[in-house]
Amino acid sequence: MTRPTYRRILLKLSGEALMGATPFGIDPDTVASMAAEVKAAKDSGFELCLVIGGGNIFRGMAGAAKGMDRAQADYMGMLATVMNALAMQNALEQLGVPTRVQSAIQMDQVCEPVIRRRAERHLEKGRVVIFAAGVGAPYFTTDSGAALRAAEMKCDALFKGTSVDGVYNADPKKVTDAKRYDHVSFNKVLADDLKVMDASAVALCRDNNIPIVVFNIREPGNLARVLSGEGDATVVSNQED
Ligand code: UDP
Repeated sequence: MTRPTYRRILLKLSGEALMGATPFGIDPDTVASMAAEVKAAKDSGFELCLVIGGGNIFRGMAGAAKGMDRAQADYMGMLATVMNALAMQNALEQLGVPTRVQSAIQMDQVCEPVIRRRAERHLEKGRVVIFAAGVGAPYFTTDSGAALRAAEMKCDALFKGTSVDGVYNADPKKVTDAKRYDHVSFNKVLADDLKVMDASAVALCRDNNIPIVVFNIREPGNLARVLSGEGDATVVSNQED
C-alpha cells in the first residue's frame, strides 16, 4: 500500500524513547539522537508538533499500584512529561531548531501555556511545538494528549514512534510468527484490542479522521524515511480492509 505524504504532523514519542540503554530517566545522548531525527524531518519541509510521554520518569498507574492516590500520581506523571519536553527543547535548540514548549499545566517560568493560535503561529514561523503535560487532567495518558493536539492543530497524521516497526496481531517480541499489518482500520484496532495507543486516543483519531502511522523510532533515519512514504510502518485509518 502506498502511503500518502503529509504536511503537518504530530510526532508522539514515549518517555522511554529518551532513556536509551539506561534503566530510568533521561539519557542526553539518546535525546540528542532523537532531536537529530526530528531536525531531519523538519528540514525536509514538515510542520512538526511533538508530544513526549513521561514513562521514563513516572507513570501514575505505577504509583497507584503502590498505594498512591491515582490523581496525585497522575499529576506527577504530567510533570515528568514537562521535564522530557524541556530536555527535548534543549537538544533541538542545540541543533539550531527553534522550539517552543506549551504545557497543559500552566507554569509561566518554564514554558508557555497551551494556546492554539499561538502554537499555529509558531508552526508558521518554522518552530517545532512540543506539547507537554498531556491533556492536563489525571486518568489520561500522553497518547490521548497526542490525539487531542493532533486534532486541534489540524495535523494530517499522528506518527507514533515505537520500538517495533508497526502494528502486529500479537507481540512480535514474544510470538515469532506474529503478523505485521501494512494497514489496519481503527475499528479493527479497537475490536481486537491491538496495541497501538490507548483506546480513548484511538477513538479520538477515528472520530476526527486522523490517521496514525506506527513506526520504529529507534532505527536511525527512519522518521524521515517513513515521512517520505518509505520504510516499514503500519497506517491505521478509517478505511476498512
Ligand atoms: N498523564 C496524565 N494525564 C495526561 C497525560 C499524562 O495523568 O493527560 C500522566 C499519567 O500518570 C501517565 C504519565 O503522565 O502515566 C506519563 O505519561 P504516559 O504514561 O502517557 O507516558 P509514556 O508511556 O508515553 O512514556
